[in-house]
Amino acid sequence: MDYFVPVAAAIGLLGGVVINHLADVLPHDKPLRAPVCQNKDCLDVYTWQQFLLMKPCPHCATRRSARSWLTPLVLAVFAVYLWLKADSALVFGIDMVLSLYLVLVALIDLEHRLVLRVLSIPGLFLCVAAGIWAHGWQASLLGGLGGFGIMMAFYLLGVLFTKIRARRLGSENDDGEEALGSGDVTLATLLGLLLGWPLIWFNLLMGILFAGVVSLLIIGILLLQRKYLQQAMMVFIPFGPFFIASAFLLLHFPGWIKAVLS
Ligand SMILES: [Zn+2]
Repeated sequence: MDYFVPVAAAIGLLGGVVINHLADVLPHDKPLRAPVCQNKDCLDVYTWQQFLLMKPCPHCATRRSARSWLTPLVLAVFAVYLWLKADSALVFGIDMVLSLYLVLVALIDLEHRLVLRVLSIPGLFLCVAAGIWAHGWQASLLGGLGGFGIMMAFYLLGVLFTKIRARRLGSENDDGEEALGSGDVTLATLLGLLLGWPLIWFNLLMGILFAGVVSLLIIGILLLQRKYLQQAMMVFIPFGPFFIASAFLLLHFPGWIKAVLS
């Protein structure tokens, strides 16, 4: 047996714990030095021991979310997969850092509908470096421009849609929600730099299709529960996590996509 497998699992587990902490703290602008409660009305500080032992909040007794448990476990398994697939420790290291970054961005987007600016700058360095290393600077640059251009066009369409929706629902129902946020444009640019051209347009298409299928399922369930159409029209799905999930499939499980397409 490969002696590094348990080490890879431990790296994934530890990475998951770090991601949990950052996903709790960063969206609320809290200092990194102490873990905080996941209840946004509480945000009380945990000790590191309480945090690592997965205790409920000492202040409001809120239990740790399913994400807190799942992230380290899934990342431990995924790290072993990355290690077994990698040609070298360097490739494993790069894949691992990129994966942790993308999981963090996806979790914060899912939970807060935000692509944080603090994360955009380190992401830019990571994606440019990995993209140039994998495809050369031309393909990486073209990918970044492609991702930005495609998503900017959708963003502008989304602004138009939001205006029409606000008019139909009446201005008192205007929740300020954008179909596509400007964070999605940032994320598409980063993924474009990472994946290069032409893979980025396929990645965005896959993400939009995924998000569409999931939105239709949710709207279908709401309608079956005899909720009003108006409520179904208010359903909002962040696109970011779907773009990131598609990038994971393209980068690490291309065989699955080939199997579906053929
Ligand atoms: Zn609390």
